[in-house]
Amino acid sequence: KRVILIGPPGSGKGTQSPIIKDEYCLCHLATGDMLRAAVSAKTPLGIKAREAMDKLDEMLANQGTKVDMVLNFAIDDAVLEERITGRWIHPSSGRTYHSKFAPPKVPGVDDVTGEPLTQRKDDTAAVLKSRLEAFHRQTQPVIDYYAQKGVVKNIPAEKPPQEVTSEVQKALS
Ligand code: ADP
Ligand code: ADP
Repeated sequence: KRVILIGPPGSGKGTQSPIIKDEYCLCHLATGDMLRAAVSAKTPLGIKAREAMDKLDEMLANQGTKVDMVLNFAIDDAVLEERITGRWIHPSSGRTYHSKFAPPKVPGVDDVTGEPLTQRKDDTAAVLKSRLEAFHRQTQPVIDYYAQKGVVKNIPAEKPPQEVTSEVQKALS
């Protein structure tokens, strides 16, 4: 069964994905981070990745019949700035924390490995604005496309993390 998570930056996709990624093919999920790294390194792969990213919506649409379910992380834009600017990441595992909503035991340190956490350079209010514009322009049509196919389930992503987890499990059951 192939499930994809769609939602604006900061809506909680990365937080919720470990819960389901063992059971479902969510292979594309971690690639955003890998591609960003490649693009910023300006490697040949990065340049190709940039081209692929520009085509991603089209690619997903062409695969429409193969997608069994789309979980649409629905959330008001106004909530996202605080989510994004407080986000801390453990790069090698992809574990995500939030300085206020999901703080690590020791500030700036991963709970599991004790390694340092980092913040994404583009996790600023100003860059969020353009990422949100891109989301509404490029990704909303993808959601609309899948909605017409009847495979979209809306996840109320503004709820606390554990409640969102229950909503995701309910949608998948
Ligand atoms: P995305 O992968 O969709 O960009 P993340 O999962 O990285 O979003 O979440 C963005 C930030 O918000 C992270 O710092 C995360 O800890 C925090 N967060 C995730 N889900 C919630 C939630 N339900 N309530 C409050 N904060 C959350
Ligand atoms: P964010 O963390 O900002 O919500 P993602 O990590 O989901 O964003 O993805 C970042 C960018 O990489 C987006 O433009 C997305 O379309 C693109 N992307 C993600 N996965 C792939 C993939 N497998 N192939 C090409 N582009 C991808």
